[in-house]
Amino acid sequence: MTIRHAAQLIGGARRGLALTGAGVSAESGIPTFRGVGGLWTQYDPIKVASIDYFMEDPSAYWRVSKDRGRVALAARPNAGHHALTALEASGRLIAIVTQNTDGLHQDSGSRSVIEVHGSSRTVQCLDCGNREARGDVQARLDLEMPPRCKLCGGAFLKPTVVLFGEPLPQAALQQAFALARESDVMLVVGSSLVVYPAADVPLVALRSGAQLIVINAEPTPLDELAAVVVRGKSGEILPEIVDLIGG
Ligand code: NAD
Ligand code: ZN
Repeated sequence: MTIRHAAQLIGGARRGLALTGAGVSAESGIPTFRGVGGLWTQYDPIKVASIDYFMEDPSAYWRVSKDRGRVALAARPNAGHHALTALEASGRLIAIVTQNTDGLHQDSGSRSVIEVHGSSRTVQCLDCGNREARGDVQARLDLEMPPRCKLCGGAFLKPTVVLFGEPLPQAALQQAFALARESDVMLVVGSSLVVYPAADVPLVALRSGAQLIVINAEPTPLDELAAVVVRGKSGEILPEIVDLIGG
């Protein structure tokens, strides 16, 4: 049984590492980019989620971001997030590297979370650098478009997420690769594994001798390199794995 095999590997991990993607938060109501029902079936993300588009017309960016923000701010961690938190607490996982920007791993109580694509919980003024909570800016979106900086009045308030065309946070990325090199079990959950360099994290882990486990609703390009592939919903599979491992 594949879930049993996955539980065996994770249960025996001394330095397990997780890489998570949008699929982990799908059951919290946050749409993924790719896959069935993904946002890319509605928008062209390279356009609406690019830094060029934002700089050209922040209002247009915020009109799309407004609905997404409302959903993300209301979202709560699901059983998959909680299972990962339990695996960290019981010493099976040393950290979670996440491509998600929603902050749900932290809400669930996970302590070592490395955000390689930034966080949507804060918004930064590109003119003066001032940061505000996303919730505060969200509340102003019905009143002013684009939202303006409270401190300097600037019109370029950008969520602290990595947009297409922007560099990734180097310190977070380096930390992710260092952990991958030291890991013995690499658990990938809810990621299409087509966004680089995040998708290199499991490759580095594999090259360093880790066993790879992929849990995803659909096939990924790394499935054939995995010791175990479990197809399905992370909110159902991860708690089952935690139950099988016990204590
Ligand atoms: P992705 O959207 O490219 O792929 C998500 C994958 O999850 C798909 O392969 C899909 O089949 C799978 N999936 C969907 N529901 C699932 C479930 N319940 N259980 C298990 N798997 C499920 O996501 P990605 O690989 O993370 O990369 C896309 C980029 O989009 C990332 O850079 C990320 O920053 C950003 N993003 C973040 C969020 C978020 O923060 N929640 C949401 C959407 C996109
Ligand atoms: Zn400002």
